[in-house]
Amino acid sequence: MTSTSTGLFWTHHSAGMMSAAFVLPLHQILDDVFGTGARDKVFAEAGFSAAPPADDSVPEGKVARLHASVHDAWPVLWPELMDRAGRVAAEAVVTDRVSARARLLLENMPWPVAAWLVGRSARQNARAFAGSGVFSIQTTGRFLVFKNPLAMQIRSDQPSCHFQAAFFEHMFQRLVHRDFECRETQCCAAGADACVFALTLAPDADPI
Ligand SMILES: [Zn+2]
Repeated sequence: MTSTSTGLFWTHHSAGMMSAAFVLPLHQILDDVFGTGARDKVFAEAGFSAAPPADDSVPEGKVARLHASVHDAWPVLWPELMDRAGRVAAEAVVTDRVSARARLLLENMPWPVAAWLVGRSARQNARAFAGSGVFSIQTTGRFLVFKNPLAMQIRSDQPSCHFQAAFFEHMFQRLVHRDFECRETQCCAAGADACVFALTLAPDADPI
């Protein structure tokens, strides 16, 4: 059993389970963009008869199938749809899972320390967003997800984990520094062993 002892984030997820936050934003966004019928079709293909409750743990296989179904159904719009969904998911974590007191503490500490703390908390709660993938922090600005379950059912010639990249970017922007940017530089969907996410500050901000 992994620890959730930092008090910052999320609920505990058992092995093979992920946060419903990686499903719920798509339920709303696909409805907005394509309509209920098209939304329900891809959800049904992934085994969802309805949107899961926000606090639920969801089998990672169903989450991965849902993401792959969206990729297959709307390949051109995929980056934009998943970027938008990732930001909604991160905002839900920030507002629902991080206490006001914790946010205030993070705001008032030097941002490199805040970045380290948020990364550490993410690692301790990695099942929520990486499932059975192995989440590793190489430096404060470089995260890896080995055997990323959300990428394994997708085949692409370029990094494709727009949901997770947007999730990291928005979470770090809201909790640490508004100028953070996150870019995926290698991806399991493109044949790499791990998805690699590079977190940097915008060019006119202080360097990491
Ligand atoms: Zn990836």
